[in-house]
Amino acid sequence: MPESPELDVLAENLAAHLAGQAVGAVRVLNPAALKTFDPPVEALTGRVVAGTGRRGKYLWLEFAGEPLYLVVHLSLGGRVTLGAKAAGRRIGLFAVEFDGAGVLSVTEAGTQRRAAVWVVRDVADVAPLAALAAEPLDEGFTVEHFAGVLAGGGHTLKGMLTDQKLIAGVGNAWSDEVLHRAKLSPFARPERLGAAEVQLLYDTLRAVLTEARGSLAEQVAGRVEIPKAAERSFAVHGRAGAACFVCGDTVRSVWMGERETSYCPTCQTGGRILADRRRSRFLR
Ligand SMILES: [Zn+2]
Repeated sequence: MPESPELDVLAENLAAHLAGQAVGAVRVLNPAALKTFDPPVEALTGRVVAGTGRRGKYLWLEFAGEPLYLVVHLSLGGRVTLGAKAAGRRIGLFAVEFDGAGVLSVTEAGTQRRAAVWVVRDVADVAPLAALAAEPLDEGFTVEHFAGVLAGGGHTLKGMLTDQKLIAGVGNAWSDEVLHRAKLSPFARPERLGAAEVQLLYDTLRAVLTEARGSLAEQVAGRVEIPKAAERSFAVHGRAGAACFVCGDTVRSVWMGERETSYCPTCQTGGRILADRRRSRFLR
């Protein structure tokens, strides 16, 4: 699932390609993905893109004139592409044909159908978007704010970093990367971190997200795409079985439901290998 760095770069590149372009036609390829009916999708026809935006894991196109937004949530297997023609019905959810810039397609691979599209007059009309917490790179996200969130506890550190109602924009991949660089266990108890660890995690979180955005923007060079995980330079995410770049130990992963958490035992857990979520409670 794309997280804030990926979606920021996607939003920026979409704006570069689509700003000033008028919508020729809209095609709903999978009606289940469309979460709104008023305003109707036809309201987009003829409207000109003013810009793009991103909040948490939501991305949107904003149209000039009377307020109108096309909001997209890509979930696990969703993608946004810009090409000469619309995506096929097998993976296509929604397509917007522009008079002079090709077709923007929202697609979703896999069997889960969780990606969603909204057409709204205000992005706050998308209820889960309105419920998002502050983001690590927001101006108001101070170390004091972060310490307050962590003190709330009730989660593992990994669970807390990825809970969009507590900290928005960070998901599975970047939480793994942040915890590895900060040398903290994904299963540490957030409320037990000392002031120095909180400061370290705060600085690391902001640094990792900032670097991620910069290096991704460089890698895609203006194209509307997000490279596959294997083409990215992750330190631990998706690298189970490979050597840690920092210490040479073997990167491990542990599954919690459908989510894989990657970590380095030597760097993060005092050498302990976490067998699964339940056993790890005794291994913290
Ligand atoms: Zn290591």
